[in-house]
Amino acid sequence: MERIDKIIASQGLYSRSDVKYLVKHKRVAVDGEAVTSSSRKADPEASVITIDGKPLIFKKQVYLMLHKPQGYVSATEDKTQPTVLALVPQAYKGRELFPAGRLDKDTTGLMILTDDGVLAHNILSPRKHVQKVYRVELDIPVTKEMQEGFAAGVALNDGVCKAAKLVILGEKTAEVTLQEGRYHQIKRMFGCFGAKVVSLHRLAMGNLYLPVDLPEGECRELTAEELNRLQ
Ligand code: URA
Repeated sequence: MERIDKIIASQGLYSRSDVKYLVKHKRVAVDGEAVTSSSRKADPEASVITIDGKPLIFKKQVYLMLHKPQGYVSATEDKTQPTVLALVPQAYKGRELFPAGRLDKDTTGLMILTDDGVLAHNILSPRKHVQKVYRVELDIPVTKEMQEGFAAGVALNDGVCKAAKLVILGEKTAEVTLQEGRYHQIKRMFGCFGAKVVSLHRLAMGNLYLPVDLPEGECRELTAEELNRLQ
């Protein structure tokens, strides 16, 4: 048995304070009986919970897209530094979310947080070919030599990288598309050409681009169509 506000909030549509409001206005019922307190307990498996007469649909999994800012580590816990989970709204705190793929602490951009281990595996597995697109700024000019080297496969100390696409955007800026996700991969690849990455931003995973209207530090659920674009 769990509190009704926790059960409803765990589904992501309403916060606990929204539930309090709904309860106050007698809009929530359990097995046909109006709920009078948001601390009322119910069994989410056995009871029919309704809001305005409509049954609460339990979503099995949650998929959030986050516009990751700098300063957060891609982990579920860390002893000294804030993790990306600190940016997840309270309504999802009951879920066991984790980041599907890592971005360095100083990297910004698109990150998926989910409790779906299969999707996370698919996004990360090089065999599934979910490309990751980054915008990179360097301390020195981007060169044709880098472009050709990336296309041929850069040799790092943990093996040769798969071919990567490098599009030169400006003197010191480029767009890089990776087929895989090794530790500090882009920084190490440019390091082979004597270049230092000054800023790194993930624009896309698969065909899913970070929406321009999602501010840094905020997250929202993926639509079904967006989820499809990721797979
Ligand atoms: N490559 C890096 O070096 N860092 C990231 O965060 C992502 C790709």
